[in-house]
Amino acid sequence: MQELLTNTKTAFKYKSTKDLKLAKWIYGIMHQYPDLVLSMSQLGMFAVEWKIPFADQVVYNTFYKVFCGGKDLKDCISVVENLAEFGVETVLDYGAEAKDSEEEYEAVTQEFLKAIRFAGKHASIPLISMKITAIADFELLEKYSNPSSTKSPQEVIDWERAMARFDLICKTAYENGTSIFVDAEESWIQPALDTMVMEMMKLYNTEAPVLYNTYQMYLKSSRDRLISHHSELKKAGLVLGAKIVRGAYMDKESKRAEELGLEDPIYPTKGDTDDAYNEAILYSFQERDNMAFCCASHNRESCIILLELIKENKVENHPNISFCQLYGMSDNLTFNLATQGVRSMKYLPYGSVENTFPYLVRRAHENTSITNDASREYLMLSEELERREKAKRK
Ligand SMILES: Cc1cc2nc3c(=O)[nH]c(=O)nc-3n(C[C@H](O)[C@H](O)[C@H](O)COP(=O)(O)OP(=O)(O)OC[C@H]3O[C@@H](n4cnc5c(N)ncnc54)[C@H](O)[C@@H]3O)c2cc1C
Repeated sequence: MQELLTNTKTAFKYKSTKDLKLAKWIYGIMHQYPDLVLSMSQLGMFAVEWKIPFADQVVYNTFYKVFCGGKDLKDCISVVENLAEFGVETVLDYGAEAKDSEEEYEAVTQEFLKAIRFAGKHASIPLISMKITAIADFELLEKYSNPSSTKSPQEVIDWERAMARFDLICKTAYENGTSIFVDAEESWIQPALDTMVMEMMKLYNTEAPVLYNTYQMYLKSSRDRLISHHSELKKAGLVLGAKIVRGAYMDKESKRAEELGLEDPIYPTKGDTDDAYNEAILYSFQERDNMAFCCASHNRESCIILLELIKENKVENHPNISFCQLYGMSDNLTFNLATQGVRSMKYLPYGSVENTFPYLVRRAHENTSITNDASREYLMLSEELERREKAKRK
């Protein structure tokens, strides 16, 4: 099974040699010069925001090309078709994060609606993903996460507006046969996100999982949250949709807890997070007939655990079980999983360079981190380029 998810010929079949060389170059930089990449990413953010000439062209022709699908939906279609050719489905991810005015929330809502209608017309795009902070104010969500806080009349109006926007997005998804991954963000806004998502699940997850909530298994509280949401919906005869991730805001979470003198919400070790993650996968697998779940991870062990369970139980075609990785990362998992006949998907971010920049910075951080993802990707890309070179010489 280990070898199965490392086959580079299958992993990179969808990529031209030119694209592979670009990806190898980018991963090489992240691997060899992590500090430089991190400082450049901060500088790049300012350069793109301040529209310094050529800044967005430089980002577009390097990091953006490796990790994003295109500037708009039309631009993404060739990538979507290319993935579909190898049995991989697409999750459209409009690059909009933490907006802060009613006009912006409305504009982003319109983009989500466009993406849902577009997905509805393409069988290989079953889902879109969204962040609630793109349609609602962060501080408002923080306030609604604290039951003892007092809300002003304006805040009540803003909350109702955010709910109405979210309802429109969910209803449109329901009508177009598309599902939505609602991303998890900082833990201190999660109770408000849960209120919103659970309310919509009760309206729309009647026959199929239109909405998927996200469970960050690095949080000590996520196990109970997953079980409690599942039990509540199961009792009502509804389907929970669960995207299971480890979590991307670890440093921020620990820093905040320390500043406020609170207990760190994150497990003390990576091993504890891994155990919690794999337990959540096992729980979801056992409950697969009344909940839909996605193993959204680049961790090979976790993917193998789920793949083995699927194979032992001969449920390769189960519609409620899926795997997903980010575009430009862990192709060894996505494409090798697809050849095993299981549902395999890619998160495909799209949007302007400016909008997708925070996402690109997170990828840079992740790939220069101690997990050594960059070196793993770099080695696989090198192996495949060498294999192609040898095949050409034969
Ligand atoms: C399709 C997809 C969707 C995603 N959606 C979201 C989302 O909505 N919200 C979100 O927050 N993230 C999301 N992520 C990112 C995800 O949470 C992880 O940050 C990322 O995928 C790395 O984790 P991994 O499972 O791939 O495996 P690995 O690379 O094996 O694990 C790395 C992760 O382990 C955890 N970890 C590392 N060190 C420690 C430690 N010392 N103690 C405790 N835990 C530790 C952290 O979560 C870290 O990110 C998504 C990822 C994918 C692939």
